[in-house]
Amino acid sequence: MAEQPKNKVEPLRAVKGMNDILPPTSAHWEWLEDKLRSLMRRYGYLNARTPIVEPTALFVRGLGEVTDIVEKEMYSFEDSMNGDRLTLRPENTAGMVRAVNEHALLHDGGKRLFYIGPMFRHERPQKGRYRQFHQAGAEALGYAGPDVDAELILMCRALWRELGLVEGRDVTLELNSLGQPDERNAHRAALIAHFEAHAELLDEDARRRLHSNPLRILDSKNPAMQPVIEAAPKLMDYLGAESRAHLDGLCAILDAAGLAYRVNPRLVRGMDYYNLTVFEWVTTRLGAQGTVCGGGRYDPLIAQLGGKPAPAVGWALGMERLLLLLEEAGVLPPPPPPRVYAVIPSAAALPQAFVALEALRAAGVAALMHPGQGSMKSQFKRADASGAQWALIFGDEELARGEVALKALRALPDGSQLPQRSLALAEVAAWASHLLHDNPAF
Ligand code: ATP
Ligand code: MG
Repeated sequence: MAEQPKNKVEPLRAVKGMNDILPPTSAHWEWLEDKLRSLMRRYGYLNARTPIVEPTALFVRGLGEVTDIVEKEMYSFEDSMNGDRLTLRPENTAGMVRAVNEHALLHDGGKRLFYIGPMFRHERPQKGRYRQFHQAGAEALGYAGPDVDAELILMCRALWRELGLVEGRDVTLELNSLGQPDERNAHRAALIAHFEAHAELLDEDARRRLHSNPLRILDSKNPAMQPVIEAAPKLMDYLGAESRAHLDGLCAILDAAGLAYRVNPRLVRGMDYYNLTVFEWVTTRLGAQGTVCGGGRYDPLIAQLGGKPAPAVGWALGMERLLLLLEEAGVLPPPPPPRVYAVIPSAAALPQAFVALEALRAAGVAALMHPGQGSMKSQFKRADASGAQWALIFGDEELARGEVALKALRALPDGSQLPQRSLALAEVAAWASHLLHDNPAF
């Protein structure tokens, strides 16, 4: 092996499980974020941005002490300035509720909010599971549902459709009701009795949770425990009339909207704050990381975090997983090419080229120029490789006449090729507005 130079500096690397998102991939993120923002706008959800760091107590109190996240996935640390216990947010419902309470946002009625941003969980990194990942989420606070539950679920369907995903093939909806606390308590007693009677079949995790959080045993992925889980009493059988009516009300809207779903009595979700409706959008196309989006109703949470009691419901989707799924389904669009590429034969033409390009960009047209001075050949090569529709050639002769040469780099959709022509510099902005209205022949 070749000797390393003595003074070679070790390159620094990102934290394990935390990814850089760079071109060209970042274009897919922007595309997805644009789709999300447009969707939220059309459903009346307003953007809310809360800090990435929150007091640790928020998650311990909000998510529940005996949850995977709080038990083993949080990045918690002490603020070295004052000793405060802080945590990088592992999810954003608790933070949104804290902010809503802190600013009394519900004083004049319900609020529909959304967020997009990074979350942090100390998990074993693998495909679709990272330590810094991103969620987009929607929360409807102050609404008792079930109509708003349906709205949130149909919003997801609209998103899948707009992204090019197909329900049934790429994503399917699973639903359950967790009922109300008293119903869950009755079920919980039956559940503990069932698991106690079969204690020898439980793994260590399940035994530990038997009395603290038996519902979470139903969520176990341990294959050896599936038969005893399958045979366990179902919460659905313990629901009272009101909880049933809530679920029926939701299903009636989904049925009318023609959305197929599967009621999965074992769907419990990872946080303790849920009641009534819970749902997940799952895919079979991403192996073990099959949940793309999860959500549900969390009526107790607002009061649990010190606010005036009010119902609420929401969902969060994993952006990395959704992008993996979009890639798998082959529906990620290529990055949008510039419309115009400037070819500049001599440095003397630069000032006029700048004036023209600024006019194009101000009119809304994406226009690139060759950085530095390349030969005409290499500039045309780059212009072609950029995918631009048009080259603007700032030749000396044309410029002397107050013109620029306009060359179509691609054939029209019907296969015909436009001849090169000249364009008055004074007309560049007008030409740009025709371009934007898709009049390529102009
Ligand atoms: P899982 O069962 O896969 O661990 P979860 O129940 O912990 O998921 P939620 O807390 O409901 O997930 O988060 C909502 C969504 O965020 C998930 O459905 C998933 O798409 C995404 N997500 C959760 N954890 C991660 C992670 N570590 N890396 C990437 N995406 C994640
Ligand atoms: Mg998890």
